[in-house]
Amino acid sequence: MNKPKMATEKGSSRVLMLLGQLERLNGEAVVTDIEAIRQVTGKILHLIQTQEKTRKEIMTKGSSGMEVILTSLENTRDLQTILNILCILNELLTVGGGRRVGVFVSKGGTAIVLQLLVQSGKEASPSEELMLHLHSLLAKVGPKDRKFGIKARLNGALNVTVNLLKQNLQNHKLLLPCLQVLRVYSSNSVNAVSLGKSGVVELMFKVIGPYSKKNTTLLKVALDTLAALLKSKMNARRAVDRAHVPALLAIYQDWHRNDTRHRHMLIRKSILGCIKNITNIKLGRKAFIDADGMRILYNTSAECLPVRTLDPLVNTSSLIMRKCFPKNRLPLPTIKSVFHHPLQHVPASGPVAQLYSQPPGVDDVVDESDDNEDTEVDTENDTENEEDEKDPRNDDIETDINKLRSRQVLTRPFEELRVYERFFREFSEDFQVKPPRLKDTPVDLDSISISKAPESKLELELVQGLSQLLLDASQSVNGGCGGEGPQEESGEQAVLEVPDTAALLPLHDPDLYLVMVKGTCSVPGYTEVAYPDYFGHVAPNFREHILERVYGVQRSKIFQDIERLIHPTDILDKVVYDLDFCPVIDDGECLKFNSQFESGNLRKAIQVRKFEYDLVLNSDINSNHYHQWFYFEVSSMRVGVPYRFNIINCEKSNSQFNYGMQVLMYSVQDAISGSPRWVRTGSDICYYKNHFSRSSIAAGGQKGKSYYTMTFTVTFQHKDDVCYFAYHYPYTYSTLKMHLQKLRALRTPQIYYRQEQLCETLGGNCCPLLTITAMPESTGNDHICQFRNRPVVFLTARVHPGETNASWVMKGTLEFLMSSSPLAQSLRESYIFKIIPMLNPDGVINGNHRCSLSGEDLNRQWLTPSAELHPTIYHTKSLLQYLTAIGRTPLVFCDYHGHSRKKNVFMYGCSIKETVWQTNVSASSSDLQEDLGYRTLPKLLSQLAPAFSLSSCSFVVERSKESTARVVVWREIGVQRSYTMESTLCGCDQGKYKGLQIGTRELEEMGSQFCVALLRLRRLTSPLELRNHHTHLLDMESDLIETRCNITCPTTYVMEEDEPAFLEEVDYSAESDEENDPDADHAHLDPSELSQNRF
Ligand SMILES: [Zn+2]
Repeated sequence: MNKPKMATEKGSSRVLMLLGQLERLNGEAVVTDIEAIRQVTGKILHLIQTQEKTRKEIMTKGSSGMEVILTSLENTRDLQTILNILCILNELLTVGGGRRVGVFVSKGGTAIVLQLLVQSGKEASPSEELMLHLHSLLAKVGPKDRKFGIKARLNGALNVTVNLLKQNLQNHKLLLPCLQVLRVYSSNSVNAVSLGKSGVVELMFKVIGPYSKKNTTLLKVALDTLAALLKSKMNARRAVDRAHVPALLAIYQDWHRNDTRHRHMLIRKSILGCIKNITNIKLGRKAFIDADGMRILYNTSAECLPVRTLDPLVNTSSLIMRKCFPKNRLPLPTIKSVFHHPLQHVPASGPVAQLYSQPPGVDDVVDESDDNEDTEVDTENDTENEEDEKDPRNDDIETDINKLRSRQVLTRPFEELRVYERFFREFSEDFQVKPPRLKDTPVDLDSISISKAPESKLELELVQGLSQLLLDASQSVNGGCGGEGPQEESGEQAVLEVPDTAALLPLHDPDLYLVMVKGTCSVPGYTEVAYPDYFGHVAPNFREHILERVYGVQRSKIFQDIERLIHPTDILDKVVYDLDFCPVIDDGECLKFNSQFESGNLRKAIQVRKFEYDLVLNSDINSNHYHQWFYFEVSSMRVGVPYRFNIINCEKSNSQFNYGMQVLMYSVQDAISGSPRWVRTGSDICYYKNHFSRSSIAAGGQKGKSYYTMTFTVTFQHKDDVCYFAYHYPYTYSTLKMHLQKLRALRTPQIYYRQEQLCETLGGNCCPLLTITAMPESTGNDHICQFRNRPVVFLTARVHPGETNASWVMKGTLEFLMSSSPLAQSLRESYIFKIIPMLNPDGVINGNHRCSLSGEDLNRQWLTPSAELHPTIYHTKSLLQYLTAIGRTPLVFCDYHGHSRKKNVFMYGCSIKETVWQTNVSASSSDLQEDLGYRTLPKLLSQLAPAFSLSSCSFVVERSKESTARVVVWREIGVQRSYTMESTLCGCDQGKYKGLQIGTRELEEMGSQFCVALLRLRRLTSPLELRNHHTHLLDMESDLIETRCNITCPTTYVMEEDEPAFLEEVDYSAESDEENDPDADHAHLDPSELSQNRF
């Protein structure tokens, strides 16, 4: 016999004795002694009502009190006993929060009470008191029992409650608990459909009635129930058909007018909740517009704005208005890039073939129906299994152990790779012929031709080409490219002085820049040069803090957007710049725009209001999306007036512009007066989903998607200025070529430096390959041998053109490598550096964000790169394959990137163990052997580089990244230390630069600290006898070696977006799905909790 534990304890209390009696009565085959059980339950109830401690005794852990009580309830047919027990349960569950209800639910209490409800409902005239108690109890239990809705439906309880409600609409005492239970029923989507069929939507409208301050609690519950029901599309349609949308708007206005002291904010919010759910369907949005909903919510919101506690109303109104805002067409003839580059080989299945195979006349800007919606039918089987949903984070992690094993396989015959031997002459160089004239030469293009034995046919061509260009350039500084370009635009040709950046920027030379531009092939055939690239950029000395977001900025921007609809006559809609149809209106009343220069990207500018412009970015060439990078010129501005700029076709769902990042601006006036520099600028910056629809062609087949707006405001300081705006510090291909020229000039007799053309790009540009190491100490055998056998470090950058920060980091690396410091010399003596500083020159030149001219992301082509379509990747991979084939697999491979959604600088690496740790793969990770060496370099960087954050690093191999450089070089080439180094576009939230936006100085520093880390890595990885030469570093090394052995837990898998919640909800989505709905969780909170959550 299973006796209650406490009944046997010494001095057991009265209530426990009574429970013991109750248990014995339950044990009888037939409960005969009704009187006895009535008496016992009555006494227990009395004790509970009068003594708080008795409740605790019953509910104490390990007690079987709840079971005994529920068994009695299940067994008895006596009304008085049932009422006693329901009262006991009500008392017990009133306090104690979730735990007590949890016990009740786990002992099957919900089903017992629901069954009792259904039985009683069958009686001709059920006891009102019984119904009241049953519903009161269910109202307490329902919200905490996840399966409540299903249990209620399966037991047939829904109709009992509904019928009771229908018969007792005036009986407020009974109405409230019934509605509370109904509210829980309705939160289940299947129940909502079925309740709708039973007329509950209509019933709720009867309960709600017109504005009245009586029974506000009841009203609130009825509104919440209605809102839950209206999530069903069928119910929403029913409400639209019966003209409830104007009714709800009228009720809302009523409350808005009468609730002057804002005591009933939650009721007002619940009314909006109903409208919000109805407008999820197309008919609802139409009814809302027809009922003048936009104006009503706009005006009421405007009146709510000054009262901060009413923010939830403004936010929900804004959400509804954005959703109902008629979708606009992006003002373009096609979303395909303005420029097309015909490819020689177009694979039929590739993106370019698909893009250009559409029959003429197909509109790719919007879908046929402007407001896409699948049939408005409820799916009956959704949302009931919500707890079965998988953790989405794990989906992308590679679980195939075989794929996780780094296997160095020679996939190509060596004969095929032998052609790459010519790029590795350092492996066979014997230096028996003294290299001619390697002395320090000043910047003189002639010096190129004096390099030792012609390095390659390609280089010779380059040399010849350059000397010819120099002649052209000497003219072009005054005329030609420079004269037709921006100088003319500013109308200040005579006054313009070139700032002497050469003195401040050792690698910069405006004249040389123009020479370089001449040799750069762009698809549009650019002839202009942007001033910032010509003058150069001197990093400012002041700090540029991460911008603190002003509260309410997004909301006010969205309201300005909504005003376009409310006051259409205020809108100018004047096209002032257009790459598609060139001639545009210029009445002198607007800004002038231009982006027709290297790396420029602006497709169209439309003056919306006097000082507000909508800007449209061009797609990557041979593609119809990937717009994020921008670089354009503005002139003819007025001084001291805030101009609002909106880039209206952004694609990503969130941006660092929501987290303190500013755009970059370059003022030519400032440059001329001695400050040639890009500065972070702009106020009122935010990024949100807008009302321009995105066609399914542009959205990868998904219908009903929208674009995002990035908005910023700038007040210009100088009259007659020419200003440039960019997403990040520009770094053009011509700049790279100029820097390489200047770096070459830094050679000393100690430096071994070679620059070759790896290959030609699709656009006809050269992809440079650098080899940097130290000259051998002597031509003696030992020294030559040491020279040839230095481990290889392979670095690449700028596969993604929009990630200009990667080039600045690379510049820092290259400058360090060419510097005369002892550390640099030591580093050169340690390694042979193979560097491809720009893997995607064509993308950079043409202002792409992500792709090459093949219209593809080159960092997704590493598994099977095509020599025709992805030459730079094909040949880079071949170089690596060659190295593996001759047994010279690099020690380190690193590809420099920029990250648009995270702060700091960090690395992604590859580790089997850390990947397995993140998954539930049964293979025990302890069986896997793995050297922890992949962690050393990031660890060193975190100690050396202030911008670097170890905690942001990840070593997980994702499926979606299996064709990236990092994963392929690790898996196929067998480089254990294969990394992607990501630099923030925004700034840092840790370390020395915490709170600051990142600038070129910090990026270049990162690049040089990367070199220092490599030097330390060399000391750690060299054989012991070699290490002893560097004893000064040994302390730190042993410390590092120790920590290498102590890694017990893996780094966390880093999600794409990791920004903390914001003071102001970053409501960049106007979608109504619960995940993105900031209001969703607040439905049942009391006002105090609500305000706490909000402010
Ligand atoms: Zn990238």
